[in-house]
Amino acid sequence: MAYIPTIGLEIHVELKTKSKMFCSCLNDADEKKPNVNICPVCMGHPGTLPVINEEAVKKVIKTGLALNCKIPEYSQFDRKNYFYPDLPKGYQISQLYEPFCLNGFLKVEGRKISIREVHLEEDTGKLIHPEGGNYSLVDFNRAGVPLMELVTEPDFTSCEEVKKFVKELQLILRYLDISDADMEKGQMRVEANVSVSKNSPVGEKKLGTKVEIKNLNSFRAVEKGIEYEIERQVQLLESGDKVAQETRGWDDVSGKTVSQREKESAHDYRYFPEPDLPPLHHSPKFINEIKLEIPELPQQKRERFGKEYELGDKAIELFSFSRDLSDYFEKTMSELRNWIKEERAKEKVSREEFIKLAKICANYMITDLQGLLKGGSPADEKFLITPENFAEFVYLIYESKISSKIAKLVLEEMLKTGADPSHIIKEKGLVQITDETEIEKIIKEVLIKNQKVVGDYKKGKETALQYLVGQVMARSKGKANPQSVQKILKIILTR
Ligand SMILES: [Zn+2]
Repeated sequence: MAYIPTIGLEIHVELKTKSKMFCSCLNDADEKKPNVNICPVCMGHPGTLPVINEEAVKKVIKTGLALNCKIPEYSQFDRKNYFYPDLPKGYQISQLYEPFCLNGFLKVEGRKISIREVHLEEDTGKLIHPEGGNYSLVDFNRAGVPLMELVTEPDFTSCEEVKKFVKELQLILRYLDISDADMEKGQMRVEANVSVSKNSPVGEKKLGTKVEIKNLNSFRAVEKGIEYEIERQVQLLESGDKVAQETRGWDDVSGKTVSQREKESAHDYRYFPEPDLPPLHHSPKFINEIKLEIPELPQQKRERFGKEYELGDKAIELFSFSRDLSDYFEKTMSELRNWIKEERAKEKVSREEFIKLAKICANYMITDLQGLLKGGSPADEKFLITPENFAEFVYLIYESKISSKIAKLVLEEMLKTGADPSHIIKEKGLVQITDETEIEKIIKEVLIKNQKVVGDYKKGKETALQYLVGQVMARSKGKANPQSVQKILKIILTR
């Protein structure tokens, strides 16, 4: 492409706290009734004073630490002045001069994206425009909810990179329990600064005019909105026009960005240090305590699962995405170690066996178990299979004591009743046939019925053998030991 896009992001995240940012009103994103979680403070009544929510401050600093930011010793809140019907105070308490977190980064597929700052502010109310009406309604339940803003450097050069970054950030926020970061619910809102510049052969990069896009409220909108804006700017430049510095809104329905207003600068808001709140001083001890609360993050987990269990990319991705599934997997693996130790009178599991067991365990979780769960999770109360029973199930497959067909039946029954697998196998008469004379008897019956296939095999058609194995397995209702079937069939056919 003759043009290089340069993209920076501003991401707002509603924090999951018990109460609002500066008052004790409930912070409840699910409240449907308008204007119930309000009080004189968040309604901006004269004479009221804000009180800082410590939980919100800790959450922002925790995010900053997880994103490799520096946490300055001092910070403060600032007042951003503007009028809008959803902002009862006539100003928003935000942070301009001394934000909580500075100069971090997040690596996405090996590329480092710099994070300029993460700061804390309060959300506004919500305007509702009833269809066909010539009036608007306002709901203040959201007014004063703690809102975190993360600003990146303009380090992105494609939509694809932006999408991956936003997804990884969402996952990190969920691991940290900072926010559910559900874009459809408005808990995470993305704005992008987009500019394009001509690709110069000497490699010097001159930034083009910056356009800000708002309303990117889903992953699809992020992708389509930025793609559209890049294309629009390239076309303007190609036809010799100029790109105006402005704010544009993404319209999901028309699939276009629409000019909203000329971009304001910070000085338009007459920011000044918030006089009703003291500056904050964070001691190293306070920061350290927060650091200790940070759990293993998605990328660390991916690396560990690759090293410890040698799983494939697909399994690693799924386990990094779902903590419920990965926690269950790890509990099962630890039960397996104990199980085998007991089975073999304290003999340890070799590394090679452990990796094989991990693969079987992961495969059955990803395919069969996930299919049966139908979107549910092993963390649900109704989920009856204990890690101990699942470990036994994996061991039975590993030892070829049950075929994959029987395994499916056993797993279904385990999910229904919570019983242990060996109990189900006995109860349902699913014990594997290992008696070779009995297997031979079934094979002979199958061969009589499939004379033509036998002929094909003898003429050199290898696939005929697999067909016959399948027939024998079906006739034994999945109970024959597949390895024995294969072995005996070959012997009989070459006689
Ligand atoms: Zn309030």
